[in-house]
Amino acid sequence: MNKFAIIGTGPAGIEAAATLAAHHNEVDIYEQENAPLGNIRDKAFLFPNFADADEVAGRLLARLDHPLIHLYTDKGIDQLEETPDGGWSVNGNTYSRVLLATGYRTFDAGRKEELGYGIYRGIRSSLEMEQMLREQKITNANGDKPQRIVFLQCVGSRDEKTGNLYCSKLCCVTAVKQAIETRKLLPDAEIFIFYMDLRMWGQHYEELYRQAQQEYGIRFVRGRISEAGGTYDGRVQIKSEDTLMGLPLKITTDLLVLMVGMEPSEGTRRLAGQCHICGDYGFAQSIDPHTDDNRTAHRGLYVAGACKRPMTLTDAIADGRSAAVVMLAEG
Ligand code: SF4
Repeated sequence: MNKFAIIGTGPAGIEAAATLAAHHNEVDIYEQENAPLGNIRDKAFLFPNFADADEVAGRLLARLDHPLIHLYTDKGIDQLEETPDGGWSVNGNTYSRVLLATGYRTFDAGRKEELGYGIYRGIRSSLEMEQMLREQKITNANGDKPQRIVFLQCVGSRDEKTGNLYCSKLCCVTAVKQAIETRKLLPDAEIFIFYMDLRMWGQHYEELYRQAQQEYGIRFVRGRISEAGGTYDGRVQIKSEDTLMGLPLKITTDLLVLMVGMEPSEGTRRLAGQCHICGDYGFAQSIDPHTDDNRTAHRGLYVAGACKRPMTLTDAIADGRSAAVVMLAEG
């Protein structure tokens, strides 16, 4: 029986652990936080079907309930290196194979100074919006119900200034999902989404976009906001351009929500760097994204999930399972 280590307890790591254990292998799975699935537990509902995030997280967690899986929380990785006999050592424990599933973190909106995040209280990140949606209480800077809400796409993605030229893939559909949830809580509010172009590429995403316009009255404006600042009464003033109309725009809103993109987590950057498998933007790199997307340049070291690139929950689960199959095939 082989012994495997998995670093990271997101959907990819959990699915890989469950698959390896189902094939009678012992698995140690490490998490630096105090509980698995941090990036799901902070959501209210999941796109595109508004599945209850806690319920989905519960189902994934149940996958870890197997006598061959040993979960270690609050366990950062201090040491990860190849052993002379072709295995791997993780924090002093030896394994035949190691899977890196260290995931992503969200972009720090404070790096976009011109958008005023962290300065004006009426400006929130999409993560903070998710928290308000979880609590079913959306408030403006003064603690009141907002009458107008603006969502801004592509914050920290597709952006030369921050160095992140890639599309984060999930924030378009997340904005549409959050806008619909907002409408359900605030039936009379005006809700706008400012976008560069909408990337509703997944199954049922396009339908969600149509529903947002036709059923929920969400207004879409093609334009990028160049600057946001506060007003004396706690509102937010936005300077933008409607690029379809070719007109400069100024709008005042009660709440501006910045749709922050995905970046490699600190663990991804550190461990991928340490193992020399660092790819573009600090994400971990597989041998080939088309045909060999779970093995790395090192024998016995594998990668899965959003530590490689922005990825949906569904894709991360499938990728974790795929990594486990490759690990099993190599014995
Ligand atoms: S998914 Fe949409 S909001 Fe996110 S980076 Fe891509 S285009 Fe921008």
